[in-house]
Amino acid sequence: MTDSVAVFYDERFMEYDLGAHHPLHQERILLHYELSKQLGLLAKPGMSEPPVKLATEDQLKLVHTTEYIERVRMLSTRDDYSALDGGDTVAFPNAYDITRVKVGATLSAVDAVMKGEADHSWNPGGGLHHAHADRASGFCIFNDLAIACKYLQHKYKLKRILYLDIDVHHGDGVQEIFYDDPGVLTLSIHETGRILFPGSGFTQETGVGEGVGYSVNLPLPPYTQDHQYLEAFEAIVPPIIEAYKPEVIVMQTGVDTHFQDQLGHLILTTRSFSALGERIHQLAHLHADGKLVAIGGGGYSFLSVPRCWTIFLAKIAGYEVDNEIPEDWQKFFTEVTGLKAPTHLHDTETPSLSQVDHNQVGRLVTESVTRVKETVFPLLSINK
Ligand SMILES: [Zn+2]
Ligand SMILES: [Zn+2]
Repeated sequence: MTDSVAVFYDERFMEYDLGAHHPLHQERILLHYELSKQLGLLAKPGMSEPPVKLATEDQLKLVHTTEYIERVRMLSTRDDYSALDGGDTVAFPNAYDITRVKVGATLSAVDAVMKGEADHSWNPGGGLHHAHADRASGFCIFNDLAIACKYLQHKYKLKRILYLDIDVHHGDGVQEIFYDDPGVLTLSIHETGRILFPGSGFTQETGVGEGVGYSVNLPLPPYTQDHQYLEAFEAIVPPIIEAYKPEVIVMQTGVDTHFQDQLGHLILTTRSFSALGERIHQLAHLHADGKLVAIGGGGYSFLSVPRCWTIFLAKIAGYEVDNEIPEDWQKFFTEVTGLKAPTHLHDTETPSLSQVDHNQVGRLVTESVTRVKETVFPLLSINK
């Protein structure tokens, strides 16, 4: 089955520039966009590219404090890259407006789905899940995903929003903003905070007050691979979506879980992103009236990000695309990155497994799944 998908790409994404030596290179978004285009995916029936609206200050205020918004605005007029947090996230020149483009693209993606202009939507330039109400964190200035959930509550009066986060890092900003709110169920699958930034996202973090049971965390050990990840996903995500019956799914599609990514230690291959795209698309149709707003996120390897996102986008659109990557894109890739381009959409290499203790990893994955079932499933009245 193919469906309509609105894709929100904006050239101004390239100006979210945290500095030349920063790992968050915006060209990864451009390379994904060009790859989807050159494979013919964006020209298929049902695919559209509506313009991106700029987020307003009032929309930022749905989540962020006035003081923090003012601070970002003021520091963005300078060109000294002032730090907005401990040092990783800086107010680059024009950061205020460029971040509003990213937030605006996510809100445009929400509108497209909610107004019925498209079945699903995709903004590869968003996914700033670490930003908090009053501070930047982890390369994220304004939290487009949390703003999207608040926007869905205010403008569309939604009562049950499922926020699904598959980035290798815990979606701490979104979790914190909705920690006491049963109207947004946050579900984050990530590498354990014992090893990785931001050091949170443990199974016992289940919410507070009325929000108890509506924050779900599935932490995974380093070296989790495809079959272990997908089994854990299957054990936790479908029962929760089925029980919660969301009116929409807002998703953070970080692909820094891929084995070629240097920031995390999970070792997924493109097989996982194909399987996840297919399954999440199916779950959205089964339990959320098809409403799926998918947003990008982390992913720091030029070699893997463009491929993983293109595979994911093709799956939610219901199209098969060629595995062979066009030569024009390969040339463009080398021009932009200086690296030898991948020749195939799916991995031609496999992760190195010689050092990995599979039994130990498998045991830790099972432990984590069991703990989520013990702590959260009873709170959501799931009997599995
Ligand atoms: Zn669909
Ligand atoms: Zn990440």
